Amino acid sequence: MTDFEPVIGLEVHAQLKTAAKLFCRCAAGGFDAPANTNICPVCTGQPGALPAANAGAVELAVRAGLALNCRVNEVSVFVRKNYFYPDLPKAYQISQYDLPLCGAGEITIDLKAGGTKKVRVRRAHLEEDAGKLLHSPAGGAQDHTLADFNRSGVPLLEIVSEPDLNSAEEAYSCLTELKLLLQWAGVCGCDMEKGELRCDVNVSLRPRGAATPGYKVEIKNLNSFKAARDAVSYEISRQAAALNNGETVARDTRLWDEKARRTEPMRSKEAACDYRYFPEPDLPPLRVAPELLAGLKSKTGDLPREARARFIRDFALNAYEAGVVASTRELAAYAEACMRHAATIGLGSKPIMNLLGGEFLARVNENRIAPKDLAEKAIRPELLVKTAALASSGKVSASAAKTLFARAWETGRDPQALLEELGLAQVSDPAQLEAWAREAIAARPKAAQDLKAGNERALGPLVGLLMEKSAGKANPRAAGEVIRKILGE
Ligand code: ADP
Ligand code: MG
Ligand code: ZN
Repeated sequence: MTDFEPVIGLEVHAQLKTAAKLFCRCAAGGFDAPANTNICPVCTGQPGALPAANAGAVELAVRAGLALNCRVNEVSVFVRKNYFYPDLPKAYQISQYDLPLCGAGEITIDLKAGGTKKVRVRRAHLEEDAGKLLHSPAGGAQDHTLADFNRSGVPLLEIVSEPDLNSAEEAYSCLTELKLLLQWAGVCGCDMEKGELRCDVNVSLRPRGAATPGYKVEIKNLNSFKAARDAVSYEISRQAAALNNGETVARDTRLWDEKARRTEPMRSKEAACDYRYFPEPDLPPLRVAPELLAGLKSKTGDLPREARARFIRDFALNAYEAGVVASTRELAAYAEACMRHAATIGLGSKPIMNLLGGEFLARVNENRIAPKDLAEKAIRPELLVKTAALASSGKVSASAAKTLFARAWETGRDPQALLEELGLAQVSDPAQLEAWAREAIAARPKAAQDLKAGNERALGPLVGLLMEKSAGKANPRAAGEVIRKILGE
């Protein structure tokens, strides 16, 4: 049996977050509107209608290109990609070919075994989306297909990688990092269920060490990154079995069947199509002014990888924590504001992380606060830091800190004032603790005896009971000490 190495390349379509479509003024987000109400002569391909490129879409595409470290071409060219399909009224799609807006770039991914890998981006080009076909249920009374062009002409960025990935896991990491980069750059919503991000993967196998093979199998219809990973795994085994059988693998396009968990050949709709690309005569070459490019470059700022590294270096977070806070640009900015503020009062990032990774994110998720709304809707960083400081100094217990944090968030008031008002201060007063401890011991004589006999596990229930009696206000560490002291007497 030959030892084969998988070779994988990605083709990803990202819907750009513009208000209008790519070549007309129709809204780009009106998919929920009744069918064919968000259309015009341009996006339905009426004779004589003229497209005009949307500058906002171009700017988003450039920002995406910069996040992917692409060379951005000052001049690029729109082309017609000709094919017939009922969702494409012009019988051609306006796309880019020889001269895309964004040329070579790269995406750096972390490898499971440690270290990183640079996956080369071949190109990222602008193109328009097609309409949507609604097929009547098979076997229904009336067999028909309806076309809805609301989506027709929505701006897409097609990102094509070089075949630099060598496992299903690497393909998954690369897709995840790509999504993070696009969200970070603020260019795409990346909700796969809404079709904002779509991916196709190309897979082939080569004997380890040999050159990249000339054939490849393209898998479409992947509606999640997990599906992409599973489809690649399946395809690797399928091709390996065929090659080991002395067969050749056909160059084809397949679909991932999520239920059957296998790839199936696609009916060859456009498999061997000659698109007859030619420059779009109705659009001039697309020019990105050097000043615009320079301006966007200067605004790019830290990318997620740099942000993660900075949290590890400057704020002593571990890799996991850094990944959590740098999951969006906005959360990273918020977390950094908290940690910088904490540093000014001599508080480390650990207590900040405890709140951020716990109560803070739980609340953000529960209330579905979008990253862009964090600055406005989340608790002010100073108040989060003050709460963390009170918890870390032991002035409030962990459970009281949660209550305090919630109240500070809701009211926007100073945690210290709330602490006094709500009577949440943690009790470390020995006399008070001793009174509670004696009650707890009296109520659990067996546990007390066990602890006295040296069974350390009996301490937990006793402290738990004491905490209950104190309504959560006792300092648990001091409580444990008092119980030991009483039993040790
Ligand atoms: P096509 O001409 O069929 O569109 P391209 O060379 O443009 O093929 O590549 C399209 C995609 O296929 C890219 O993502 C690329 O990385 C990937 N790809 C190219 N060759 C291979 C291969 N031998 N194995 C796997 N993927 C490949
Ligand atoms: Mg292609
Ligand atoms: Zn339109």
